[in-house]
Amino acid sequence: MHSGLKMHVDPQVIRAFYLYLIKNTEIVLKLPYMNIKHIDRSDIVLSLLLVCMLAATGYFGYQTLTLKKELATFSDETKRTVTDKDQKLAEAHKTITQLEDTLDDIRDDLEDLEDDYRKEKNKNEDFEDQIRKIAGTVGDLDKLSKTDKELLQKYSKVYFLNENYIPSDIEEIDEEYILPGKNAQFFHGDALPFLEDMIEDAARDDIDLKVISAYRSFDYQNALKGQFTQVYGEGANTFSADQGYSEHQLGTTVDLTDPATGGTYTSFADTEAYAWLLKNAHKHGFTLSYPEGNNFYIFEPWHWRFVGEDLAEHLYDENIHFYDMDQREIDEYLIKIFD
Ligand SMILES: [Zn+2]
Repeated sequence: MHSGLKMHVDPQVIRAFYLYLIKNTEIVLKLPYMNIKHIDRSDIVLSLLLVCMLAATGYFGYQTLTLKKELATFSDETKRTVTDKDQKLAEAHKTITQLEDTLDDIRDDLEDLEDDYRKEKNKNEDFEDQIRKIAGTVGDLDKLSKTDKELLQKYSKVYFLNENYIPSDIEEIDEEYILPGKNAQFFHGDALPFLEDMIEDAARDDIDLKVISAYRSFDYQNALKGQFTQVYGEGANTFSADQGYSEHQLGTTVDLTDPATGGTYTSFADTEAYAWLLKNAHKHGFTLSYPEGNNFYIFEPWHWRFVGEDLAEHLYDENIHFYDMDQREIDEYLIKIFD
């Protein structure tokens, strides 16, 4: 690229300069052989000066050439470096693109993994749900197996309760809830809190409820029916259940009255206490077994049976009675009887 030294000087001047240079160089070369006296002193000085100039021109010319070469070399190197850098940059770009591709692949893989994980998690959750449902069913079955099935069976004339049946847990009712003058009375241990709550709830409304009779064993009912039959003959069947057919044998049924009425009389139906029971007994799980016009016994306004709050509520809401319901429908309430 570089074309060396370029001098745009008139050739005539160069020729004159060379001639002059040759002449003076001759003088300098001839100096040792010449008689110093014949030489003009100024010529010698001028010749030396010219030689120095020549040397200087050569030196600076050489320096300029060297610099130009170095510059050219540097320029080449720079170009090479730039090219190298461009190549490296291009390679770096390529590497980055490849890395980005790899990253995309990894991201895709990760998304697939996440999908798989989510699916697996959902599967596990479904499985856990199933286990929980099975556990719940097992729990219900266990609870049901421990609940006395007789407690929600229909007992009256056509339905018979085994003579050996005795409630699982019988507790004495506190004396304060018993009609004065009556014997100690017993009730099913799990239903007793509901009975006490009901009597206390009534007391808050100034209603004085008292228990006349609660749990009656098969033998007791047998003896009682015997007494009634002796006195009333066949007529006893209309108001007294035979042994094994009485709800009282369950331990969850109670005859209630107020002290003013003082006994199991139909006139109890005219009292405020009875009106209160019709309105509130269901809240405590009690229902009237033998309402007016029932197919089994005479109207027994005093005779209340514990069937659990849910079932009592249902009977109240539907305005139906326990014996109107289908046994299978009743059985659905058994599991919750003491809840
Ligand atoms: Zn009764």
